[in-house]
Amino acid sequence: MEFRIATYASHSALQILHGAKLEGFKTLVFGRERVKPLYTKYFPLADEFVPGEYPEEELIEKNAIVIPTGSFVAHLGVERVESMKALYYGNKKVLRWESDRSLERKWLEEAKIKTPGVIEDPDDIDVPVIVKPHGAGGGRGYFIARTPEEFWEKAKGLGINAKEDLGKVQIQEYVVGVPVYPHFFYSKLNEELELMSVDKRYESNADAIGRIDAGQQLKIGIEPSYTVVGNIPLVLRESLLMEVIEAGERIVETAGRLMGGLWGPFCLEGVITEEMEFVVFEISARIVAGTNPFIHGSPYTWLRYDEPMSTGRRIAREIREAIEEDRLNEILF
Ligand code: AMP
Ligand code: AMP
Repeated sequence: MEFRIATYASHSALQILHGAKLEGFKTLVFGRERVKPLYTKYFPLADEFVPGEYPEEELIEKNAIVIPTGSFVAHLGVERVESMKALYYGNKKVLRWESDRSLERKWLEEAKIKTPGVIEDPDDIDVPVIVKPHGAGGGRGYFIARTPEEFWEKAKGLGINAKEDLGKVQIQEYVVGVPVYPHFFYSKLNEELELMSVDKRYESNADAIGRIDAGQQLKIGIEPSYTVVGNIPLVLRESLLMEVIEAGERIVETAGRLMGGLWGPFCLEGVITEEMEFVVFEISARIVAGTNPFIHGSPYTWLRYDEPMSTGRRIAREIREAIEEDRLNEILF
């Protein structure tokens, strides 16, 4: 039976469906009824819309290959994704490694990638830190502190009143640098890593604070927050490309040892400091929404392909090639 490409209606679904159609697939999107017109009327890319957060039976019946996105995993939860029975593109074992900050750190460290220092005891805070609740989506709930007192005061907002509650958060050194999010694609079929594109995020209110003068900032007492509103394309200084690509190569190689591999799209989320060092604070082991500005391809995909190549289309192409070569079982979980 013919395969379809399916995804959850949010995040990067428009791009995924668009890429799937270009590669000749029938498409299916599932999700909240309210957003249906987005995928069927305003951007008519879905051959079919199925209501529901994960309509398993229909997906199986229709031979649909589900492409996971940040929204899909956030809405369903890691456990339900791990036990889902529909066809799934990627390695489900990476989910544990990226959703647990300590495991994620081990992965980054084994790949010899620089990460921000972690402070175990808030009473040791003597540099600016950023405090991150586990499993927070899109930077919600983060706060910045400079002293132990400031930490304890602000942590109350997260229900942390004593050291026993610290399991809920990770305290990282605040790294001063500009945010950079390179997007990769690792082809398991060709055993090749591709740099697809790079973005930076447009975050409220972190990107709003600079619009108010410093005097006013202090008077109003606003705290930076990092809720993603959109994504802005970026082209890196060419002398940084090797460093970024080598980091991607090491992440893939280490994943092979730790969790049986990482394939398909992924992203390293970090900052580049004034010493030109790439410090990574997070791995996203699937398509990130930062690839959305590149539906018609990016400067980097243009250097490799003579046709517009989005990450969504690259996924569909890999699946199409796997079907043609009878190797689909190698790339689905
Ligand atoms: P949504 O379904 O769009 O509300 O997003 C669900 C999850 O994906 C949340 O964890 C979001 O923070 C994350 N997310 C959505 N859009 C983006 C984006 N453009 N950049 C980064 N994360 C995003
Ligand atoms: P994340 O959810 O980990 O991608 O982080 C959300 C935002 O918080 C990023 O876009 C950065 O602006 C900021 N951020 C996260 N971790 C750090 C860090 N260790 N140092 C400086 N800024 C950070």
